Amino acid sequence: MPVPSSTPRPRLALVGTGGTIAATTHSSTGLTDYDITEGVHALLHAVPELLELAELECHQIFNVDSRAMSSLMLLELSQKLNDLLSRPDIDGVVLTHGTDTLEESAFFLHLTLKTHKPVVLTAAMRPASALSADGPLNLHNAVRVACSPQAQGAGVLVLLNDQIHSARFLSKQHTTQVNAFGSPDAGPLGLVAAGQVRFAMRCLLPHTLDSVFDVRSLAALPKVQVFYDHPDTLAELYRSAAQNGVRGIVVAATGNGSLTPGALEGVSRAHRLGVTCVRASRIHAGPVSDSAYDQDHHTIAAHWLPAQKARILLMLGLAAQLDEAGLRDIFQDY
Ligand code: ASP
Repeated sequence: MPVPSSTPRPRLALVGTGGTIAATTHSSTGLTDYDITEGVHALLHAVPELLELAELECHQIFNVDSRAMSSLMLLELSQKLNDLLSRPDIDGVVLTHGTDTLEESAFFLHLTLKTHKPVVLTAAMRPASALSADGPLNLHNAVRVACSPQAQGAGVLVLLNDQIHSARFLSKQHTTQVNAFGSPDAGPLGLVAAGQVRFAMRCLLPHTLDSVFDVRSLAALPKVQVFYDHPDTLAELYRSAAQNGVRGIVVAATGNGSLTPGALEGVSRAHRLGVTCVRASRIHAGPVSDSAYDQDHHTIAAHWLPAQKARILLMLGLAAQLDEAGLRDIFQDY
């Protein structure tokens, strides 16, 4: 184990939630069908060089595949991180997570953590037992970023494949490759190269202390579903969602948020039943523009948010009891 240097190191909380970074298989060439077997202490034990950079206090909040990260778990995660970040002896957080829903969790935390301290998420595309596992270096680079003064006040950051992304823009774009992540409408904020952290940009949209959303005493989030649109959409599904307690629907619509005939009828029915419908797109980059649809059918354009992140913002907006105009504003501003 390397000897920690005598210069004072930042004290970070190292928080584990599971994912492939914490997973193993029986074979070093096995890249799928893994089990989540490793806790956060094991991740630290595998990369003792982390202790040269920071003092680390381990917290295991969950140990799950990220497809299981429900909105209740997001609330619990945000509340526990807010508690940790409010401690004067904690200088920041590094959090490990599965890659599949990382963008949703990171965006939720970006909008609900009340802190200027660095918060950096990281993950891995290959299990810990694999040849050329990407988790250890991602973790080391994430701790480096969390120790950087430039990470302060930058909102929630994600370190993957040497790139530093804002939680606001990051999106998973490939199912298997190590360079699976990108920020399609912005690009990465910076890089870690040869051990040097270099930020070139900052996210100017509201986050953390500037975000209006405060979930510290919230017990649950409203149910919001994503409906993937296509020319044979059944309008009936929208009514059925409303009858099952759904309060919001994000439509991953075609092109620039164009609703198919079934979806148009569906959003109108849903609106009559008190459900808020947001138009996002099936396309992975670019905005959804305001349209005459929105007046006629009471829909809201998601603008630059993809459907999975629009779902997070709509849950928060509905939880904050915003009216239709207030909901339209947050989709402009965030
Ligand atoms: N299924 C995994 C997860 O999201 C994938 C990964 O972490 O790469 O938990």
